Amino acid sequence: MSAILRKSAKSSEILGAIKSVVGDEPANLHEPSFEGNELEYLKECIESTFVSSSGKYVDKFEDELAAFTSAKFAISVVNGTAALHLSLILSGVKPGDEVLVPALSFVATANAVAYCGATPHFVDSNYETLGLDANRLREYLRVETKMVNGYCVNKKTQRIIRAVVPMHTFGHPVDIDGVLTLASDFNLQLIEDAAESLGSLYRNRHTGTFGSFGVLSFNGNKTITTGGGGAILTNNEEFATKAKHMSTTARLKHNWEFKHDEIGFNYRMPNLNAALGCAQMEKLPEKLQAKKRLFHKYSEAFSGIKGVKIFVEPQGSNSNYWLQTLILSEDNLELRDEILEVTNAQKIMTRPIWTPLSELRPYFSSPSMKLDVVKSLEKRLISLPSSPSLSLEKHA
Ligand SMILES: *Cc1c(COP(=O)(O)O)cnc(C)c1O
Repeated sequence: MSAILRKSAKSSEILGAIKSVVGDEPANLHEPSFEGNELEYLKECIESTFVSSSGKYVDKFEDELAAFTSAKFAISVVNGTAALHLSLILSGVKPGDEVLVPALSFVATANAVAYCGATPHFVDSNYETLGLDANRLREYLRVETKMVNGYCVNKKTQRIIRAVVPMHTFGHPVDIDGVLTLASDFNLQLIEDAAESLGSLYRNRHTGTFGSFGVLSFNGNKTITTGGGGAILTNNEEFATKAKHMSTTARLKHNWEFKHDEIGFNYRMPNLNAALGCAQMEKLPEKLQAKKRLFHKYSEAFSGIKGVKIFVEPQGSNSNYWLQTLILSEDNLELRDEILEVTNAQKIMTRPIWTPLSELRPYFSSPSMKLDVVKSLEKRLISLPSSPSLSLEKHA
């Protein structure tokens, strides 16, 4: 390779490429859009006075989510974090357990484990998916754990490793086949954090439908939003019934009595939020198409620039491309902060990836595999403006 080819791309060249896609106006990272029946459905909710945790939109939203994902059941809740918390409890995660979670994730993945009184045990990423590396995790578990009475026990801490929570980073599916085999070999419950991957398929099947539970989020920055909200996906009827029960303060059905058979949670999604969700679901296919177009625009804009690439969905998967991501080559690491500076100075919102969870104060002492890939990715990834509206022609 010639010296010229190896020379790093300049941040101004990169700024130019981003602007050729998003235009000169300020651009947010991912903004919600309400172009359908949102107002109409909300108005109907208010006029009916059913604004809280019962009402027709809750049932409708759950039915639509189940139909869209082909999960047998969908249970809507107040947010994705609550969905993770309930799924972990219903998977049998108990105080004193450990749960395998990717070190590269939003903090909610680890927090939900901590809410159960369990400890997150951090896993390294894979370059192809950005998510949990099932092959290297298998090697790690072979050395670091032993099977006792059918349970996977951490030799160092003597704690049971009860579950694994892969997360589909920026919508890109992890190696689910690898995770499924691993979960079965080490007797781990599988809960998918699909908070970012509504619309993403792995081998033509929707993410979040492979494990005992899958979790979605409808926070304001996600592909569709209910203001705040989340959902639990499951194919198991007993789990679905329990999830609904536990999210409804574990109250036993009765016309007037207040009897609760467990310590439940007030985690149900209000009808108002579900109404927003129903309107957003109507536009979901359009939004997904727009996000694919945006990916192609960015890919084209960056195709001639050496040392940087737009991240491409892993093989065998169909990603929702929730956040478009720029990945710098190893010899361009010094560019990251420069790019963040020049873009944000022009109100073009770009962001680094999360600080690895193992480096957050509450998790300093949590067990962890070596995180070489996470440490490399952390320095090399930049999230770009990704709102579906950016793929429209006015931004060409
Ligand atoms: C958004 C998100 C969640 C859940 O977020 P809520 O704001 O509680 O809905 C969980 N995990 C990941 C990876 C997320 O991106």
